[in-house]
Amino acid sequence: MARVAVLGAGLGGVIMAYELRDILGRDHEIAVVNKGSKYSFVPSNPWVAVGWRDRESIEVDLAPVFAKRDIALHPEGAARLHPAENRIELVGGQSVSYDFLVIATGPDLAFDEIEGFGPEGHTQSICHVDHALKAKEAFDQLVKNPGPVIIGAAQGASCYGPAYEFTFVLDKALRDAKVRDRVPMTFVTAEPYVGHLGLDGVGDTKSLLESEMRQHHVKWVTNARIDKVEAGTMHVSELADDGSLKAAHDLPFAYSMILPAFRGVAAVRGIEGLTNPRGFILADRHQRNPAFRNVFSVGVCVAIPPVGKTPVPVGVPKTGFMIESMVTATAHNIARLVDGREPDAEATWNAVCLADFGDGGVAFVAQPQIPPRNVNWSSSGKWVHAAKIGFEKYFLRKIRIGKSEPFYERLALQALGIDKLKAIKVDERT
Ligand SMILES: Cc1cc2nc3c(=O)[nH]c(=O)nc-3n(C[C@H](O)[C@H](O)[C@H](O)COP(=O)(O)OP(=O)(O)OC[C@H]3O[C@@H](n4cnc5c(N)ncnc54)[C@H](O)[C@@H]3O)c2cc1C
Repeated sequence: MARVAVLGAGLGGVIMAYELRDILGRDHEIAVVNKGSKYSFVPSNPWVAVGWRDRESIEVDLAPVFAKRDIALHPEGAARLHPAENRIELVGGQSVSYDFLVIATGPDLAFDEIEGFGPEGHTQSICHVDHALKAKEAFDQLVKNPGPVIIGAAQGASCYGPAYEFTFVLDKALRDAKVRDRVPMTFVTAEPYVGHLGLDGVGDTKSLLESEMRQHHVKWVTNARIDKVEAGTMHVSELADDGSLKAAHDLPFAYSMILPAFRGVAAVRGIEGLTNPRGFILADRHQRNPAFRNVFSVGVCVAIPPVGKTPVPVGVPKTGFMIESMVTATAHNIARLVDGREPDAEATWNAVCLADFGDGGVAFVAQPQIPPRNVNWSSSGKWVHAAKIGFEKYFLRKIRIGKSEPFYERLALQALGIDKLKAIKVDERT
């Protein structure tokens, strides 16, 4: 009997536990260590921040569904991972031991890297539902006292889709509140151009997003490094292509939401051989750590190098479908090891993203994520808004019923020519 632990129960960790249970059967132990017992659907946070969703509608209590699927839940959270001892030390001092571990801890949010930045400082965040609820209070104040708004992503950020999404969601919410005419909006981003997205663009995202920005009266500053944030003023250096200072901006704001750079969480950061200098988990093409061969990783916590050099550091995004592909490959590979065979499945790391604008949106598919690509497609329209709502309802249902991938999802994605795994055929997965 193998003991498999999953560290983190977010988008990657929960479906990881479900896929492991499906592929391993009931003869093996699965334990999940998370901070708390609730799953929260992060992609809905932009809607929470303008009051279109509340906490309850995007959270799932994991305890009953895990019990049904015979998955142990440790909601204390991990204090420290000890991979040389095959042990997770929990907050409170107890330990969970494992034969195989999957790390799915998502990001630590590096607000402290910029003075005055983040929910403890002067800007809002939508990375966590608690932040989004706080951002909603600031939004209500903005509607009462309209003024300039700055939205964007800081230097080193690796999540740009949600910054664009929130720009247009906020624009719509302010139009609905009939105050948009009193709110000048500026998009401030580390990207070298609008629509780069950490992927050097996908299809025509540059033209599509610039055009949307113009149509929605949003100005922008690219190659932006945020130096400091004070109450009501953001100090931004705009860099030239050679990295020299092109312009210094002191931007006034009444409300600001800026996505931070990510790094690995404290429980895993700084473990020799496990993490890179930012604390992201090193993984080979089978999602397996090169130093600790029984440790795998999925999701935002995985180390991925940037697509190329940019004047201001820009990270590569890890989106839902890509994370699901890492999960499927990891479940398959752990099952192989349990059977005494070597891992052979590789995630496709395709980026499939829907950025909702409240009444429309932009969608893109990058296959593979790093150019040159076989599929490099982007599109916009009202259908994207409907598709994003579908994604939310569908994903939350998956989490609630304890299934990782109902049959029709697999069918639909393959009909689009998008597969989660390379290297092995679908009927060889299990
Ligand atoms: C605002 C926003 C919107 C996004 N929208 C989309 C979208 O529309 N489509 C899309 O495809 N992608 C989207 N993404 C990207 C990505 O899909 C999400 O960030 C996704 O939640 C990442 O999944 P994850 O499992 O890696 O991390 P998370 O979902 O963040 O889960 C990490 C889990 O680990 C737990 N954890 C952390 N530290 C510890 C510890 N020490 N001990 C125990 N547990 C711990 C956390 O509590 C959490 O439950 C969005 C990201 C953001 C920030």
